[in-house]
Amino acid sequence: MSHPLSDRINSLPVSQTLAMAAKARELKAEGKDIISLSLGEPDFNTPDFIKNAAIEAINQDYNSYTPVDGYGELKEAICEKFKRDNNLNYAPNQIVVSTGAKQSIANIAQVLLNPGDEVILPAPYWVSYSAIATLCEAKYVEIPSSIDDDFKITPAQLEAAITPKTKMIFFNSPNNPSGSIYSESEYRALAAVLEKHPQIYILSDEIYEHINYGVTPFSFGAIESMFDRTITVNGLAKAYAMTGWRIGFIGAPQWIAKACTKMQGQITSGTNCIAQRAAITAVLASPTKVSYMVEEFKSRRDLVLDLLGKIDGLKLNVPEGAFYVFPDVSSFFGKTISGKQINNATDFSMLILEEANVATVTGDAFGAPNCIRLSYAASELQLREAIKRIEKVLV
Ligand code: GLU
Repeated sequence: MSHPLSDRINSLPVSQTLAMAAKARELKAEGKDIISLSLGEPDFNTPDFIKNAAIEAINQDYNSYTPVDGYGELKEAICEKFKRDNNLNYAPNQIVVSTGAKQSIANIAQVLLNPGDEVILPAPYWVSYSAIATLCEAKYVEIPSSIDDDFKITPAQLEAAITPKTKMIFFNSPNNPSGSIYSESEYRALAAVLEKHPQIYILSDEIYEHINYGVTPFSFGAIESMFDRTITVNGLAKAYAMTGWRIGFIGAPQWIAKACTKMQGQITSGTNCIAQRAAITAVLASPTKVSYMVEEFKSRRDLVLDLLGKIDGLKLNVPEGAFYVFPDVSSFFGKTISGKQINNATDFSMLILEEANVATVTGDAFGAPNCIRLSYAASELQLREAIKRIEKVLV
């Protein structure tokens, strides 16, 4: 029997990152020895200095509703962070704290997009961008890129994708899933195109900012001509190992920040009080306090590239940030492996799950149908074992 759900939810795809993580958990609960490289989640504990700030907040009886856009002290701390790390000068009334960067992105889309507007998504892009745009009844327009271009788009491609209906573009650097980082000059070349189209707003998702391996990411809003059109999104989940604390934030033109606050005020209200108090400490701390995690991710990246590089048929780029590898697996399409016909990246990802007990995410979910994503936010032991199993299935 079909249930009378809305067209909105019926047409919404399930988040493939979360679905694969749930599937891995389910199979583990059934007793299968699954290694999950599906979810992008640091396997570190939240640093003690942040945990202690939360404990203190509980003991100080922080328990009431919070201001919808976040504690003033936290917004001031975020302004300092934007200055310190990104050369961005925001005032506290341009900051909105949300329940994760995902909510920040959903707020922005809801307050800027009308049905029929177009949103440009340089592919590969994070799974929820397309779903969030669709929820706003906007049309998303993918700009494809390939592993041969290090998964980056060119100014000419951007120009060609723009129409009178284009309202927004979503940039994400360091990129999930490719790990690519746009350089300042690459961003400036893209900005030169956008300068000709003042109706387009830029969402710059910088959530992986601190997880980079020597290439310092550039903030799109730091380009002077773009500042008043850019919404900078960031949060604490990735670099501070705080995924479950759910703290995301934006710096935006004040009229957009105000609209996001209005939206949030009707949907979730202010973010959790304890997480916000801890966030003040996290945001004000020097990023060097969490660089031990970045160093560990770098050595895992090198290990994974080395081991996967020995498997014939996998094509790899060298990710400069985030904690994913995104191999092109298209050389396996059309083949039969372990009795299974592999026609696309989803078939390949399912083959690896069923035959190697390793959970990954299909590139189809990221607008890159030749690839699969593996998260290396897992222990070295797990990574070695996972790749050994993958190799056994493929060779
Ligand atoms: N952003 C992470 C990922 O891509 C967490 C899951 C999600 O929210 O999509 O795996």
